[in-house]
Amino acid sequence: MAARYAYECPECHSTIELSTTQAGQQLTCAGCSAVITAPKLGVIKGLPAVGGQSATPARQGRAPKSGSPLKSWLFTGGLLLAVLGGIAGSAAQYRANEFRVDIDFDAAVAKEMDLIDSHSPAEIYGIAVESTKDSFALEYSEVPYRTSNIKSGIIQWVAWTCFGVAGVGLLMLLGSFFVKNQ
Ligand SMILES: [Zn+2]
Repeated sequence: MAARYAYECPECHSTIELSTTQAGQQLTCAGCSAVITAPKLGVIKGLPAVGGQSATPARQGRAPKSGSPLKSWLFTGGLLLAVLGGIAGSAAQYRANEFRVDIDFDAAVAKEMDLIDSHSPAEIYGIAVESTKDSFALEYSEVPYRTSNIKSGIIQWVAWTCFGVAGVGLLMLLGSFFVKNQ
């Protein structure tokens, strides 16, 4: 087995064990993941020798980096929130659209005024009598529509909240790409 020499990582000052065959090569420090260039052969031979096998040998070249817990947490959590928030938000949005009734109440009132203008008092009386009947009242009452729109509004808020959560998830997902591996 080739002799190994103790080299101090310029980044984190942990000990990297080098063999003479690694002279001048690019290495990834096992301690801090910094990519460093091993010194020349003459310099390596001047370093203190290490006896026996190395517990943390320097990895050759650009070895795969170990993941950071924060990075994987952001990635997994963000993905989960984005997907679940998106699905829940879409479902809520669908329900909100179902409940929403687009009625222009001002236009309805104006139409009613036209009706009064264009009919004789006797006819209006007839309409008024007719309007006391349940079928007529239900058809023209604003109440069911208003109630439906209030429901729609509440569900709409739920949808927006879910979309907000999904947005936070997306930001976490994006942010995870900027977190450095350890
Ligand atoms: Zn290091």
